[in-house]
Amino acid sequence: MPASAVTLPEKSAGLPSLLGMPVPRLIEFFENVGEKPYRARQVMRWMYQRHETDFAAMTDLSAALRKQLAQMTTLALPPVLKREHSDDGTRKWLLDVGAGQAVETVYIPEPNRGTLCISSQAGCALDCAFCATGHQGFNRNLSSAEIMSQVVLASREVAPASVTNVVFMGMGEPLANYRNVLPVVQLLIDDQAYGLSRRRVTISTAGVVPQIHKLAGDCNVALAVSLHAPTDELRNRLVPINRVHPIAELLDACWTYAAGQASRQITFEYVLLDGVNDSVPQARLLVKLLRNRPAKVNLIPFNAFPESAFKCSPQPAIDAFWQTLMNGGLIATIRRPRGDDIAAACGQLAGRVRDRQRVRLGDRVMGASSS
Ligand code: SAH
Repeated sequence: MPASAVTLPEKSAGLPSLLGMPVPRLIEFFENVGEKPYRARQVMRWMYQRHETDFAAMTDLSAALRKQLAQMTTLALPPVLKREHSDDGTRKWLLDVGAGQAVETVYIPEPNRGTLCISSQAGCALDCAFCATGHQGFNRNLSSAEIMSQVVLASREVAPASVTNVVFMGMGEPLANYRNVLPVVQLLIDDQAYGLSRRRVTISTAGVVPQIHKLAGDCNVALAVSLHAPTDELRNRLVPINRVHPIAELLDACWTYAAGQASRQITFEYVLLDGVNDSVPQARLLVKLLRNRPAKVNLIPFNAFPESAFKCSPQPAIDAFWQTLMNGGLIATIRRPRGDDIAAACGQLAGRVRDRQRVRLGDRVMGASSS
C-alpha cells in the first residue's frame, strides 16, 4: 500500500473534495478558476483511472494549477482504522468518517473478477431484523466523496488486482441516500471516470419503492432487491419497510425497472433463516411471485453476528429450498459466504455507529412506540 494513500484529515479540513463530484460541477469548478472544461476530464482520469490522490503527481497539469488545486480542494481519503485479510483473500477496511463514526468496505477477489462492496450510510435506519448494520442504528448519510473514496482507496490497495464490480451492499440503504449515491453511480459507469459497465454496478435495496422508479429514469444499473420473505405477513416482521411498501408494490417497481433495462434480470436476495423463511411451502410461494419474470434468486445463508436472534438454516433445508425454486422454473444460486472469519460477510458489517434515531422504523411502523 502506498504510504500516501491516507491523507490526514487536518491537512484537508474544510476543503471541498473533488472525489464523487458530478461531472457538470467539476467542469464548472474548472471554469470558475479560469481553466478549460477539459481539465475536468484530465483530473477525472487521474482520480478514477490511476487512483492518484496527490495533485502534485498530476504531471499533465501546470505546476501552478496543481498548487492551486491543492490549496482549494482535496482528494483526501478517509483514514483507515483497521485493515483485515481473510484466509479466502477477502479484505476489509474500517474507515474513519469523523465524529467517532466508522464504516466498512469489503473487497472480494474471485478468479475472473474483484468485487468491491461499499457502504452508503453510517448505520442504517431500516431496522431489518437479521442485519448487524441495522442493529447498530443510524447515524448519517455518507457524502458522495466518502462513498467514492472507498472505491479509490480499495483500488489503490488491491493493485495490481483491480475492482471490476461495485456493489452497494455494505452498510446502509443506498436508495435512502439517493442524492449522494447517484453521482457516484454515474461516475462509476462513465467512460471518462471509472468506466465500469452498467451490469457491473449493483444497487441493493430493501425496497425503497419511489427511489427504484427514480433510479430507472436516472441511471439504470443492475438492481438487487432484498426480498427475504414470500408473504407480507412475514416480510413485515423481517424487513419493516415492507409495511410502507408491501411486496406487490415492490415487485411492480421491479418489473418496471427491468423493462427499462431491455428485460435484464433483477436479483432477489433471500437470506435463509432457520425455521423462519426456509420451508419448502415458502419456496413454492416464492416461485409463484417470481415465475416467468425477469428475476433470479440469490439465496444467502444467514451470517450470524453477536446479539442476533436467528440461526442459519441447516444445509439440507438450504438445498431443498434451492431445489424447489429450480423445479419451479426459477434461476437460483446459493451465495458462498466470503470473509466470514473477519466478519466481512453479508449483514455482518457493523463499523462503528452511534445511533441517533429516537424511534426505530420497526417500532414506528408497528405503532408500538410513537412517543
Ligand atoms: N440495505 C441494502 C444493502 C445492504 S445489505 C439492502 O437491504 O439490500 C446487503 C444484503 O445482505 C441484503 O440482501 C441484506 O438483507 C443481506 N443481509 C443482511 N444481514 C444479513 C445477515 N446477517 N446474513 C446474511 N445476509 C444478510
